Amino acid sequence: MRKLIGVTGSLYSSRSGVEGIFAGDDYTAAIVEAGALPMVLPIGLQDEAVESLADQLDGLLLTGGVDLDPAYFGEEPIPQLGEVSPARDEMEWQLTEAFLARDKPIFAICRGIQVVNAVAGGTLYQDLHTQKRGVLQHTQRAPRWHASHEVALAAGSKLAAIFGTERIRVNSFHHQAIREAAPGFLVTAVAQDGVIEAVESVRHHYVVGVQWHPENMWRHQPIVHNLFQTFVDNCGGK
Ligand code: MN
Repeated sequence: MRKLIGVTGSLYSSRSGVEGIFAGDDYTAAIVEAGALPMVLPIGLQDEAVESLADQLDGLLLTGGVDLDPAYFGEEPIPQLGEVSPARDEMEWQLTEAFLARDKPIFAICRGIQVVNAVAGGTLYQDLHTQKRGVLQHTQRAPRWHASHEVALAAGSKLAAIFGTERIRVNSFHHQAIREAAPGFLVTAVAQDGVIEAVESVRHHYVVGVQWHPENMWRHQPIVHNLFQTFVDNCGGK
């Protein structure tokens, strides 16, 4: 049986006013390409429903999206904080806790790495440009697939094994980033300006987060798909 991977989505209103959930096809296609079944998740489940979902899914792909409410890491909002989605925050928080408690695999992208890091007890920059000196351009104006800045990968990390090298170039569409990595998380990629671009848990079998958007790169650079393949390969299945 194919493995079932939960894919988080964004709340979205169509031009005709219909509200729904949106997950980019690049995410779900990457999971299909890796041999598993993606399931875009509803928003608004709580408590026992979230626990049941965590029991039934083999892996969780936390996708990109709007900013996490800084209340989740103990801060008041600064003026440069972007849009926040309280319903999405609440469910992703519970679901991430449920996955970590079960030691089930998580692959966390962009907003996702920020959610995992905050759930595990780390902090974020609400706005890099305001809160950290001398940062590079992390909101590129080049096409989505274009690798715009370099990151150095930590020797011996899962990422270094996945890419077979310790320096790669990545795309960049974030104004937030991890400030302090959560206890039990290793920083596994850093940009030249010191911005944390990836982490992995040392306490869990497979919990990996990246700040960039590999889903928009893998069709142009096949090696990038290894991130999705390795994640799916580490999911339990039945
Ligand atoms: Mn970046």
